[in-house]
Amino acid sequence: MAMRFHSFFCFTINRSVRILFSVLLLAFCWLNPVSAEAESPAQIVNLRHWTNPTYTRVVLDLSRTADYKYNVLPGDASKGLSPRIYLDIPDSTRDLAVSPVVEIEDGLLRRVRFGTPEPGRTRMVIDLVTSADFKVFHLEDPYRIVIDIGGNQKPVLSARSPEIRNSPPGRGSDALAEVLGRNAAPAAKKRPSPANNERSGLRRIVVDPGHGGKDPGAVGPNGVLEKDITLAMAKLLKKQLEKDIGCEVILTRDRDVFLPLEARTAIANKVGADLFISLHANASHHRSAHGTETYYLNLSKNDQAAAVAARENGTTLKEVGDLEAILFDLMANAKINESGRLAAEIQKSMVSRLSRKYSNIRDLGVRQGPFYVLLGATMPSVLVEAAFISNHREEARLVTQDFQQNTALAISQAVRNYGVALELLAQR
Ligand SMILES: [Zn+2]
Repeated sequence: MAMRFHSFFCFTINRSVRILFSVLLLAFCWLNPVSAEAESPAQIVNLRHWTNPTYTRVVLDLSRTADYKYNVLPGDASKGLSPRIYLDIPDSTRDLAVSPVVEIEDGLLRRVRFGTPEPGRTRMVIDLVTSADFKVFHLEDPYRIVIDIGGNQKPVLSARSPEIRNSPPGRGSDALAEVLGRNAAPAAKKRPSPANNERSGLRRIVVDPGHGGKDPGAVGPNGVLEKDITLAMAKLLKKQLEKDIGCEVILTRDRDVFLPLEARTAIANKVGADLFISLHANASHHRSAHGTETYYLNLSKNDQAAAVAARENGTTLKEVGDLEAILFDLMANAKINESGRLAAEIQKSMVSRLSRKYSNIRDLGVRQGPFYVLLGATMPSVLVEAAFISNHREEARLVTQDFQQNTALAISQAVRNYGVALELLAQR
C-alpha cells in the first residue's frame, strides 16, 4: 500500500514536472533562437571569379557546409533568354555584402545573379553567352562551391589581359590582386589568349610556394613550418629560372599570406603560364621517412600517394576518393604527358644534384596523385616534395640556404632540360 501510494505520488510529481519542463523548453526555444544555432542557414559570404583562356571559374564561399543542386536551362532567343546554369542552396541566405547581380561579360559568362525562389532558399543563376560544358564541385574548410564553366567555342584571341575580379573584396582577393600587380580592374572584356596557342617556348613560369598565412603546412619536430621553407625556396627558384631560362617568373605568393588552393592554378591560367611548379615539404607519421618525390596530377596509383594528396589538400582519404571521380572530367584539359615528363626531369635533377652534396638522399620517384592545387591547370604542372620536414635530418637541411639553393638549381636545370627536349628552348 505504502508502496502504491508512493508510486502514485511520484507519478503525479513526474507528470507535473514533465509538463512544466516542456512548457519551459518551448518558451526557451521560442525566446532564444540561439539554441537552434546548429541549424542556422548557411550564409553565402563571397563570390569570386576568374576568367581563364579556356574556362571561367566561379567560387561561392559559404559560412558552413550546405547541400546544393544544380541544373542547366537552354536559352530561348525568342524570349531574349540566354542559356543559364542555376544552383540552388536550400536553407541559406546571401550576405548583403555579396552583390545580387555581378556583371562578368568575359565572352563566356554574361553575369551571375542571385534570387530567392522561396524563403530560405538561395538560387544563383549564371547567364551564359552560349551553352557550355560545366563542372560543379565543393571544397572544405572553408566550405566553398566551385563551378568551372568551359567554352565549347574557340576562345577569342586577344592581347593577354589578366584580370581577377572579386565582389566584394574578400578572402584571398587582395593577395591575388597583388600577385598580379593589378587590382580589380574595371572591364577589360576580352578573354585572355590560351597559353601556347600562338607561340611556343617557356616564357612565363608560375612558381607556387605551398601553404601560407593561417595554413602552416606540415610542421617539423623542431617547429620548422613548411610554409616558410616553400616561400624561401620559391624566391630562390624564381631568381634561378630568370637567370637560366630568361623567362618571366611569377610567384603565387611572395609573402606569408593564405591563398586558397583553387586560386593558385587560377593565377597560372590567368597569366597564361607555360609551366606551374608547386613547392612543398613532405611529412609522415614515421619520423624515419625521408627522401625527395615529385608529383603530377592523375588518379592516385597507390595509398601512399593518396595520403600525400589528402594532406596537401587538407582533406580526408575518403574525400580524395570522391575527388578522383571528379577528376575524370576535369583532367580533360590537364597536360598529363608533359606534366609527367617535367616531373621526371625535376625528380632526376633533384636526386642527382642533392646526392652530390648530401648523404642519404633517397629517390622516391615520380608519383601521381589527385591534388587540388594542380586541378584545373591548363599547362604542364607538378608538385615537388623536396624533403621530409617530419624527419630530423631533413628538417635541419630544409632550413639551410645551401639546401634551398641546390633545390632551386636542380629544378631550374630540370626545366631547362625539359624545354630543350621538347624544343621549347634552344640548346645552349
Ligand atoms: Zn605542402
